[in-house]
Amino acid sequence: MKNPLIRVWQEADIKSIEPHLLIAGSTTGDCAACKEVGISFEAKNCPRCGTVFRYIGTRISNSVKEAKRLREKRPDLILIEFQDFKKAAARGKAHGFLDGVL
Ligand SMILES: [Zn+2]
Repeated sequence: MKNPLIRVWQEADIKSIEPHLLIAGSTTGDCAACKEVGISFEAKNCPRCGTVFRYIGTRISNSVKEAKRLREKRPDLILIEFQDFKKAAARGKAHGFLDGVL
């Protein structure tokens, strides 16, 4: 039996996550760094800007099923709660950062 997923809350530097974040949709992902869309879940790098993906998040919030699916597809990436990221980034926008990303 596989271990269950539990969420760990930790401080995170949004500015260091954003350039390496793959935002997962239902079949493909988007690059948070350059906004390229239609990226394969298997991609190690963004085909457009070349950034190395280290994090993955999903627009489908609060779904254990979705989290499990992404963990299975990309166990090498750190799975983040995209809603948390969005909220923190929105606060950062007051300082002119991440404009147009979200
Ligand atoms: Zn990119």
